[in-house]
Amino acid sequence: MGSMGKVADPYLEDLGGGIFAYIQPDGSWFLNNTGIVAGAGTTVLVDQCGTEDRARAFLAAATAAGRGPVQALVNTHHHGDHTFGNVVMPSGTTIVGHARCRHEMMATGTAITALFQGPEWGEIGVCPPNVTFEDRLTLWVDDLELQLIHFGTPAHTTNDVVVWVPEHSIAFTGDLVFNGGTPFALQGSVTGWIETCDRLAALGAAALVPGHGPVTGPEAIHDVRRYLGFVMDTARAGIAAGVAPLEAARDLDLGPFAALTDPERIVGNLHRAYHELNGAPRGAPLDLLPIAAEMMTYHGGPIVSHA
Ligand SMILES: [Zn+2]
Repeated sequence: MGSMGKVADPYLEDLGGGIFAYIQPDGSWFLNNTGIVAGAGTTVLVDQCGTEDRARAFLAAATAAGRGPVQALVNTHHHGDHTFGNVVMPSGTTIVGHARCRHEMMATGTAITALFQGPEWGEIGVCPPNVTFEDRLTLWVDDLELQLIHFGTPAHTTNDVVVWVPEHSIAFTGDLVFNGGTPFALQGSVTGWIETCDRLAALGAAALVPGHGPVTGPEAIHDVRRYLGFVMDTARAGIAAGVAPLEAARDLDLGPFAALTDPERIVGNLHRAYHELNGAPRGAPLDLLPIAAEMMTYHGGPIVSHA
């Protein structure tokens, strides 16, 4: 399957009650997680994958794990690792997402693929949600309630949605939680994400399926919040010193966060934090290409994805 040999194969984790996490190691660039909620009469998926091969493998795993037909897919946000594989879904599948998820998918297309080396993308494309909402929507899998929640502010992106399963105390967080990877706020809001962490923690979920990395507990929300606070502190100091984001990143000791995958995201995160501290609204569009180029400079070359 493409360049999949460089990382371990995806695996299915049974969380009980017909709920499964589909984990794609090692959680770095474009290696996202997805989910399956299988009822007797219907199966609902949470997110898709970023390459055709990976999307087809996930759909096959979901079809095998489910008892009822796959009838709906929720996109947690517009990013291509979670949505490019929408195109492999059977025609007639209901695709649900935030209204701005649909808008961003249609506005950005698949251009992001040009920034990464490595993946064999296959036939991917843009198949945006055909059911959209703003704040909350409830989906039922037989008699199991799935609460789709947008926390009201840009965070990881402008259109983050959590799938909360109160009966089993499980939350599919999308990229509001990275477990073992560097959180990435370039297309959202650092301050909004910090607030969102508190709202997410208030759900009281016992188990989280993060957007990237292994299934975890609520402590992972605290880790994300701590990293984002570190970004804000660094940005405040950088602005005070008159130092540009790339320079601030290069001078920075990442400390405990150095062990996270994709550390070059600090550059994009600082750009977002600088803009917010300088008065830009949360989630305001930024010119992404020059910032991506700076991330590559920090990284020391092109960014490789093992997806
Ligand atoms: Zn994302």
